[in-house]
Amino acid sequence: MLNIKIFGIVQGVGFRPFVKNLADMNKIVGTVANRGSYVEIFAQGSEGDLKNFLSALQSKNPPRSAILKVDVNNLPDKIFDDFQIIDSVHEAGDIFVSPDISICDKCADELFNPADRRYLHPFINCTACGPRLTILKNMPYDRERTSMGEFPMCDACAEEYFNPNSRRFDAQPVCCNDCGPEIYIIGKNLRGHDAIKFVRKILAAGGIVAIKGIGGFHLACDAKNFSAVQRLRNSKIRPTKPFAVMFKNISAVKRECFLSDAEEIFLDSPQKPIVLLQKKVGSIAENVAPNINKLGVMLPYTPLHLLIFDFPDEIKDFPDALVMTSGNPSGVPITIDDNGAIKNFDYCDAILSHNRKILLRADDSVMDFIDNRPSMIRRSRGYAPLPIFYDYGKKIQVLAIGGELKNTFCLAKNNLLYSSPYIGDVDDLRTIEVLKSSIQRMSNLLEIKPEIIACDMHPRYQTTILAEKISKELDVPLIKIQHHYAHVLSCLAENNFGGEVIGVAFDGTGYGLDGTIWGGEFFVCDSKHFERVASINPFVQAGGDKSAKEGWRIALSFIKNLDIARELNLADEKNLRGVKFLLDKNINCVRSTSVGRLFDAIAAVLGVCKVSTYEGEAAMRLQALAERSNKKFRTDFMNTDEIFSEILNGRLNGENICDLARLFHERLAEMTAQICEELSFKTKIKTVALSGGVFQNSLLSLLTFSKLQRCGLKVLRHELIPPNDGGICLGQAIYALN
Ligand code: ZN
Ligand code: ZN
Ligand code: FE
Repeated sequence: MLNIKIFGIVQGVGFRPFVKNLADMNKIVGTVANRGSYVEIFAQGSEGDLKNFLSALQSKNPPRSAILKVDVNNLPDKIFDDFQIIDSVHEAGDIFVSPDISICDKCADELFNPADRRYLHPFINCTACGPRLTILKNMPYDRERTSMGEFPMCDACAEEYFNPNSRRFDAQPVCCNDCGPEIYIIGKNLRGHDAIKFVRKILAAGGIVAIKGIGGFHLACDAKNFSAVQRLRNSKIRPTKPFAVMFKNISAVKRECFLSDAEEIFLDSPQKPIVLLQKKVGSIAENVAPNINKLGVMLPYTPLHLLIFDFPDEIKDFPDALVMTSGNPSGVPITIDDNGAIKNFDYCDAILSHNRKILLRADDSVMDFIDNRPSMIRRSRGYAPLPIFYDYGKKIQVLAIGGELKNTFCLAKNNLLYSSPYIGDVDDLRTIEVLKSSIQRMSNLLEIKPEIIACDMHPRYQTTILAEKISKELDVPLIKIQHHYAHVLSCLAENNFGGEVIGVAFDGTGYGLDGTIWGGEFFVCDSKHFERVASINPFVQAGGDKSAKEGWRIALSFIKNLDIARELNLADEKNLRGVKFLLDKNINCVRSTSVGRLFDAIAAVLGVCKVSTYEGEAAMRLQALAERSNKKFRTDFMNTDEIFSEILNGRLNGENICDLARLFHERLAEMTAQICEELSFKTKIKTVALSGGVFQNSLLSLLTFSKLQRCGLKVLRHELIPPNDGGICLGQAIYALN
């Protein structure tokens, strides 16, 4: 008899029924059980049958499963009558919690098939699709341990659930039109199909609807209706930050955006992330993603989304593109329950909710593409909490709490790094509460009791304060990791790289070892030590928090001359004099090497964006302009002061703004490559790791990659872990492991 243990994503993906079918086909007797972190099989049969069974197990596994390891042991034979699936017995080990999965093709077909008993059922799912992480209380993944536990199955559903030949065999969230959760309009007596028709009418007429989804609420309106979009902007107090758009299908996407093969694969993958696509001149309202060349696009990923687009009612010209933006008040985590929705979405024309509880928030993931490879901006629904493998360091359990902005945290165990869904900016009490409860829930799910806590060095980060508290409560050590070093380490973690690198961290703001602001740093480092060997030229940020939003302040600090500042119309006279005063007297001034702020300053000088209304706005607009220029430049080395002067002079001489924006990108990439080349020459290190939020800029990244490669250097880059602060928990974690 063989004892087979299969590790990986084997829960909630139809793995046990798959094993049962395979066993029956190969005349194998025995059992299969869900052990929490793995699936355990006892298999008995002829040698040939066992061989076939074993190879099919690993080659024909269900589409959503991922086998990471298979252990096979020989045991003495026992007596079995047949092959059976036995109840879950829980054992501790490496746990792989499945992320949420978008509706599969078979379920989508049934959804619109009038003969099917789940015709137009907003919660249709099967073993290959549906919610997972967001409805899970505890492992192993069984209905009673999910938020479906409170809904008894009807006889027909129970029949499928217990029938090994059904696609819904062992599908925990199974339900139908006669059982399970239901949808409704809050405050109105409209349920089920009436609720969908009501919502369609409002959206078609240009209204705004809050819609409860998998990991939280969305706010939706017609993406081609300028005034609807504007009303949403005004209500959400979000003047210019781009909104994501959900298109009805791929062909609707292609009418409005360019779509490469690689982008299409990810866009239509089971994870269904938001993918940033190049816009065409089309009919999406101008104010959906103003001043940038790209649009955040996603496809419907729940049956409810499909029904909203395609419900067979009398509305024939329903929009094929809906703004679908996270339903939350600015800066606060996504709303997940009715009370929150009633409080936060009073400006909506309707709130479409349902009574299946969301236990863990999961915002939509956001992905860009650089050089035909993904570049994750926000890793959340569909991806979290899949672990990253890291082969180096100790096998201890770690909680790395992450940064302050775009927070995610990471739990590590047995060299597997599980990073959480997106939490958000932890500068608000409500976000801290969500962070705390998410840490609780995830450590419970993954059965991790941290033996060490890791956090940022910033003394005033709420995450640092929380980490200090948790470390006291658990009585375990706390280690603090410099922000940009953690960025570079996150890149090593993603690339499973254990050696020495030249690390480049270009970032917005982070606390430096010397108490100044860092963010344009060159390190020589490995996972144990770092040395800051170079940085961009320091400048002065005047005016505290405002200096992170108002690029004109940084520009003035470079220019130093009020007449030139006036000529560029950087700000009104009062503000200009005020900041000049601060700079002259060195009041409320901090030294900074932040490349993010340098971008802001250049954008202000070029008159592109003097004040950012969301993080990264100036840099995104600058990139958008640069992409319109195809001018070629000589590649000269300049430091950042010289680059600034060159751009400033170009601007004062009336040169083309797009060309100047392009020049800035080229110069910065060239400077970076040449510094790395020199460092490589000195240290003999041939690998460069690029990280930090600035490398979300695909133009700068591309230019830097190619220049580094031309110098003969190997580049480690981010693909599925964000280069921004959403990734630094991983860097903190591997430092703690080493
Ligand atoms: Zn399905
Ligand atoms: Zn049912
Ligand atoms: Fe950062």
